[in-house]
Amino acid sequence: MWAYPDRRVKIVTTLGPSVSGQDRLRQLLEAGADVVRINASHGTETSWSEQIRDVRAASADLGRRVPILFDLQGLKIRTGGVPNGEAVGMARGATVRIVPEQVETSSEQIGIGYPNLLGVVQPGSRLLISDGLIELLVEEVHDDHAHCIVSRGGMLNGRQGVTLPGAPIRGGAVTEQDRADIAFAVSHGVDFLGLSFVNDASDIRLARETAALHGEVPGLIAKIEREDALNNVEEIAFAADGLMVARGDLGVQLPPERVPRAQKRIIAVANRLGIPVITATQMLESMITQPVATRAETSDIANAVWDGTDAVMLSAESATGRYPFEAVQTMDKIIKEIERDGPIRSESSQMPLPRHPDEALNFADAIARAGAALADSSTEARVILVFTYGGAAARRMAKYRTSQPIVAVCSQESIATRLNLVWGVRTLVLPLNLEANEMFDLAGRAVVEHGLGEPSDYALLVGSLPVVERSGTTNLLHIRALVD
Ligand code: PGA
Ligand code: MN
Repeated sequence: MWAYPDRRVKIVTTLGPSVSGQDRLRQLLEAGADVVRINASHGTETSWSEQIRDVRAASADLGRRVPILFDLQGLKIRTGGVPNGEAVGMARGATVRIVPEQVETSSEQIGIGYPNLLGVVQPGSRLLISDGLIELLVEEVHDDHAHCIVSRGGMLNGRQGVTLPGAPIRGGAVTEQDRADIAFAVSHGVDFLGLSFVNDASDIRLARETAALHGEVPGLIAKIEREDALNNVEEIAFAADGLMVARGDLGVQLPPERVPRAQKRIIAVANRLGIPVITATQMLESMITQPVATRAETSDIANAVWDGTDAVMLSAESATGRYPFEAVQTMDKIIKEIERDGPIRSESSQMPLPRHPDEALNFADAIARAGAALADSSTEARVILVFTYGGAAARRMAKYRTSQPIVAVCSQESIATRLNLVWGVRTLVLPLNLEANEMFDLAGRAVVEHGLGEPSDYALLVGSLPVVERSGTTNLLHIRALVD
């Protein structure tokens, strides 16, 4: 049987102490993890190297291709340390100075590690510290400091995240630290880079140029976690290879009640443009400490699937939680239940693919759309085989959320591995430069071997004739037996 889970929506799991080492990684993959994420906010180059090595070994063991998403920190603004590591009380109504460097925190002064801080705040601006636990309201801005009123008080720990809702923070997408981390990640062959705190498409282009200096550019997942990014989500989606609904930061940048609508909007854009989208953060928060999900969490995952997401993500639940495997199994069960009556087709997934600004023609989408319609009406076809050099043909097919499983046949491991993030796609790696019949037969046999059909079962084939090892040449729809 195929070693891949029998569902269409994928599961992304964040690595950390709870799932470290090859044995636990294998257990994680067996529980149903499709993609692993390394969060660059934690760990060192040494620990990341070990994680990458272990993931590659564990997935090879299981005969799976598991993409690694290396998630960059971006401009995470933090407060300074606290004296003796002890939290400092911030009393509601008190006045406090903020300064634009990470000096030690006291009850009179908070140091904030963002040099341009005083350029982006004005009287009336809000600062949210530690995911909004503490809130400051700016009263007066001076040359080297600003006065604030503590509008929500509490105990402030060292090096806490600071959010400036709505502030025009630029150039936050590729920091000096990110440049170093990109060099590391690309030279270690990660499959995706997560881009944090992007504002617009220029941030994606900058990350692409930076990555290109070090080797093959990974897929770029733009994390939508600022209001600017939400406003520019369409141009970002055109420039990126995938999106993330980064609900953690988005829910501090925006009032949390705006997040569900934002989630639907981001997923709709990705579904329309046919790029993968990951719904992330707090999906099973209670499972960090308890073995069962709440009803609300169960519904949240189900609703993300109904919205049309390609993947759902675990953060602390898998990285540091007590029940990482149970959390994956919980997601697996919920997704399967929602998909029981067939694939989820959001309205935008069924809209024609808008022409990419850089593309002259759009035959490829017409083929994919016709293929999806054909697959729906000729129910004898058990499986859809997409012969794809760069992966785009398989993504275009997945966009239409076909009823039959999609098997992408690629000639390169790196392309096949990336496709495992995409809704409903499984992968085979075979030569693509053979004579057409021979190639179709070879792929058909592999599908039979993987238990996805009998030799006499029909398959819908999508590819190109003449056979060329080049992207963007899809021109063929063909129905034939898996093995002739
Ligand atoms: P993070 O991103 O976990 O890297 O902060 C995801 C989010 O903000 O939801
Ligand atoms: Mn974030």
